[in-house]
Amino acid sequence: MIEYDIVIVGGGGAGLYSALWTAENTILKVAVITKVYPTRSHTGAAEGGINAVLTHSVGDSPEAHAYDTVKGSDFLADQDAVDIMCKMGAAVIYDIAHRGVPFSRRPDGRIAQRPFGGASFPRTCYAADKTGFYILQTLYEQCLKNNVTFLNEWFLLSIIHNGERVEGITAWDIRNGGVHLIKTKAVILATGGHARVYWNRTSNALGNTGDGTAAVLRAGLPLKDMEFIQFHPTGLAKTGILVTEGARGEGGYLRNKEGERFMKRYAPEKMELAPRDIVARAIQTEIDEGRGCGPNGDYICLDLTHLGEEKINERLPQTREHAILYEGVDPVKEPIPIAPTAHYSMGGIDTDKLGRTPIKGLYAAGECACVSVHGANRLGGNSLLDVLVYGRLTALEAVKYADEAPETTPSLAKVKDDERRILELMESDGKEKIADLRKELGNVMMKHFGVFREESSMKEGLEKLYEIKERAKHIKVYDSSKKFNTDLITALEFLNLVDLAPAIAVPAIERKESRGAHARKDFPNRDDKNFLKHSVIKLKEDGSYELSWKPVVIKKFPPEERKY
Ligand SMILES: Cc1cc2nc3c(=O)[nH]c(=O)nc-3n(C[C@H](O)[C@H](O)[C@H](O)COP(=O)(O)OP(=O)(O)OC[C@H]3O[C@@H](n4cnc5c(N)ncnc54)[C@H](O)[C@@H]3O)c2cc1C
Repeated sequence: MIEYDIVIVGGGGAGLYSALWTAENTILKVAVITKVYPTRSHTGAAEGGINAVLTHSVGDSPEAHAYDTVKGSDFLADQDAVDIMCKMGAAVIYDIAHRGVPFSRRPDGRIAQRPFGGASFPRTCYAADKTGFYILQTLYEQCLKNNVTFLNEWFLLSIIHNGERVEGITAWDIRNGGVHLIKTKAVILATGGHARVYWNRTSNALGNTGDGTAAVLRAGLPLKDMEFIQFHPTGLAKTGILVTEGARGEGGYLRNKEGERFMKRYAPEKMELAPRDIVARAIQTEIDEGRGCGPNGDYICLDLTHLGEEKINERLPQTREHAILYEGVDPVKEPIPIAPTAHYSMGGIDTDKLGRTPIKGLYAAGECACVSVHGANRLGGNSLLDVLVYGRLTALEAVKYADEAPETTPSLAKVKDDERRILELMESDGKEKIADLRKELGNVMMKHFGVFREESSMKEGLEKLYEIKERAKHIKVYDSSKKFNTDLITALEFLNLVDLAPAIAVPAIERKESRGAHARKDFPNRDDKNFLKHSVIKLKEDGSYELSWKPVVIKKFPPEERKY
């Protein structure tokens, strides 16, 4: 048995910032476990930037930021949490800038800010179009400087708790093989999102399979607002790889096959810079109604040609590189073919405004958590902010808790359980292939739980998800070695997605309204009377999913019609 006082699971932005704040505020024994090497976490792929009101953001205020966030969330965000996040914005930006993040600057040397979707002021701080990359590298280097202990290439399997407190976790050592019990007083889950459930068309890294979220579900604990998945409007047409919102922030146009800037029909004021749910629906509608571009009419054109080569090279170098590499199009000369792509999980582990779960000592931060600061639709640039603010807050909460928490002895049952599960996968003579089933899962999610949804299609989709879950019992891991068994990891990740998919589908069917990213053709309007509430879902021991609801925290901003 390995023993620490605090274990942070995840080496992305949330995990590393949490580790840093823990290391600097305690002499307790802390470790970060991560399945990929920290600098390969998905945070490194974040391009466009991070929102915050800085001292030189003239006219802007944390209150305006909070209002934009709440309105963007279609009034489902908890306003006490949004308040905390927006007020802490400047503090975390200056903190990471002082630690070395090379933010792009204005001519006067202050941190530059660009306009982003749904924001009433330009408040997105950026480092060219590689913001997440610079943040991740800087935080990792700072963690090394502070002697943070890393268990790299360790895979979280299960969470151990006694119904009141967390007692430890189990994890698979990828390098050497073997299930280990890690005893700890506090656990901060920072395992990232689960948009990979839309396997075939997503902007997400291969590893964004919601492992921590699925472990929480299997531990009998609640997930919140899982029906809300964000489709980013601009994924490259062929692959779903992201083109940052910064491309529209810098002045890019969206055009249909007639060359029309169609956003004027959907969001006349904000145009291309309306929030993501609205732009994604507009694009999908143009495609569905026959105004898409290309020989099959299945994409829309993102036109940057009027920005000029110099601006594109300075502000959007990675966008140009990706368009040339993956789409064969140079945005300096031609528009980029794009279509919506599954991008972000608004839902996740149910936490309160300080990142606490119903189990003492168990916290969640970053994309795996649903605090909720994003409600039904996240604004671009608010996730990196959420990652840092809650990385820091959960660190301070965990330190406080672990300092005083009583000793408990975790039972070995979970270790035995996980060993048996892994042995069964290795010894299975099942005929189902993970690669095929995973593709099917992605197709079902996209077809039945995509940008637009409706009851009969979703019910059919849920049946298919249960069938996939049944068939997933017969997958086989072909590699029987213990060391670096990537076949086994692929299986464990896939099984996590299989557990999470119905947790998205069940509340999606029951939420009979359209709100934020959840757009129902059969219920096109928001229904505050019946659905101004969070969905909460649990997995029961008999394998069924149990849905309940809980109230939204409303403070300064009463729900109003959402117009842009
Ligand atoms: C292409 C792209 C661009 C984006 N651009 C922006 C942007 O410009 N601005 C913005 O605000 N947001 C952006 N986002 C969203 C934002 O980047 C993410 O929400 C955020 O970085 C998530 O950070 P995280 O620390 O929660 O998780 P991640 O960075 O995804 O890290 C997850 C960590 O958990 C670990 N982990 C996962 N499962 C296990 C397991 N079973 N065992 C052990 N470890 C595990 C992984 O190893 C990894 O270290 C973007 C997202 C994408 C996909």
